Amino acid sequence: MSDKFEDKCGLFGVYGHPEAVPLTLRGLAALQHRGQESAGVAYARDGTVECVKVMGPVRALAPRAERIEAPAAIGHVRYGTCGDRSLESAQPILCTGAHGAVALGHNGHIVNVDALRVRVSGSGIPAASDSDLLTRRVAQHYTGDLGGAVRAAFQGVAPAYSVVVLTADSLCALRDPLGMRPLSIGRLGAATVISSETCALDSIGADYVRDVAPGEIVLVEGDRARSLMGLAPWAPPAPCIFELIYFARPDSVVFGQSVAAFRTRLGERLALEAPAAADVVVPVPDSAVYGAVGYARASGLELGLALFRSHVVGRTFIEPTPAARTEAILAKWNPIPSLIRDRRVILVDDSIVRGNTCRHLVHRLRDAGAREVHVRITSPPTIATCHFGVDTPDYRELFATGRDLASMQQMIGADSLAFLSLESLSAVAAPMTEMCNGCFSGVYPVDVPTAHPHSPRRNPELSLRTSAPSLHLAEVP
Ligand code: 5GP
Ligand code: MG
Repeated sequence: MSDKFEDKCGLFGVYGHPEAVPLTLRGLAALQHRGQESAGVAYARDGTVECVKVMGPVRALAPRAERIEAPAAIGHVRYGTCGDRSLESAQPILCTGAHGAVALGHNGHIVNVDALRVRVSGSGIPAASDSDLLTRRVAQHYTGDLGGAVRAAFQGVAPAYSVVVLTADSLCALRDPLGMRPLSIGRLGAATVISSETCALDSIGADYVRDVAPGEIVLVEGDRARSLMGLAPWAPPAPCIFELIYFARPDSVVFGQSVAAFRTRLGERLALEAPAAADVVVPVPDSAVYGAVGYARASGLELGLALFRSHVVGRTFIEPTPAARTEAILAKWNPIPSLIRDRRVILVDDSIVRGNTCRHLVHRLRDAGAREVHVRITSPPTIATCHFGVDTPDYRELFATGRDLASMQQMIGADSLAFLSLESLSAVAAPMTEMCNGCFSGVYPVDVPTAHPHSPRRNPELSLRTSAPSLHLAEVP
């Protein structure tokens, strides 16, 4: 079993449209920020399901799939961590059971995967990942009724998952009972569309209908979509706050919130909580742009786009070695001296994880002539591993682990450093339901496994913090 997370992948699906495959490719392209490691599409045709997958972005998949004609399709883009760059991990995963083929795409990470693996042991080749395991479970239970198969297969499966499943004649979309990962439903004429984010519905001209509810199974077959309340609601939902802070596209509505508006409010709140005497507010593009807009607005300071971001350079964050990450950061952002020379700069970013981005950018802004650099982060310090699908490293690699604010400030070489408080973050998230903020608090909405030899480890210092209502895996129905 691979311990590589499936991470914040992107899911898309179309049912009941002759151009289901090309539409799915377009939807996936709008979800590309959720994963560029691999891309795949599965489609229903002639009583069976087939699948095309490639390593790389959606544009590498398109030439091999865009002319496929099928009335239903699902697609997946994968954000894999370094070291797991094989087509074997690409999705959708296709599995043929006694009653036909099933293809499944998964976003999230199943925290009780080890317990589940024990239950399906003896079934031949070991599952390659938690997503592979889910596909096999659905295929095993499938006897022609996809809704029933999914309900049975997900008994005892802990979060986090948003999933789409395709058979020869039906499509199913579901979200775990905590609703940790987003998933929304759209309509394009008579066709039903499923997407991780609403920006991809917009990209094909589909209307947003509503979100798949936490714990809901939506079954689409024939000419109708039905809601099956299949997965027992265990607890209040706990959607992932990091989707709103960093991961989702700003033009999406996620968990009922405009992502851009949410980030702007974080920046406004931070300006009130942590002001700085300065001349210009500079975002780290792209992810901190809205936060900086909010900060500048609330502080009455000028917004200066003084860091150019190259769009040719991809993700710096998951480069495998520190040297490669540094190189990528140098190539990705370039300061514009004329906008900052002799000025006091407030550098706004959305998060500090390992601390590389901030440390390098502070130095480069100084080299480019900034007189002072004050760093403001629109989220609290990341202090704990995410067990639900965000690519946060082992807690020991986290910048904030074992450091107080003064030493963090010194490490990044800033004139001052401030993070948004957890209280302010929660206040901005209200009146939403409780959200999972485990990466900032070390408190998780469900029990998480303690150190597995290869899994990212929990910070033992945090294990006594159980102030949040915690669900125990034994309670999973
Ligand atoms: P650091 O350099 O501190 O390790 O990472 C922080 C930077 O990476 C921030 O600019 C933030 O926008 C971005 N970031 C935070 N989390 C993630 C993630 O899960 N994936 C990617 N690709 N970038 C991230
Ligand atoms: Mg960023």
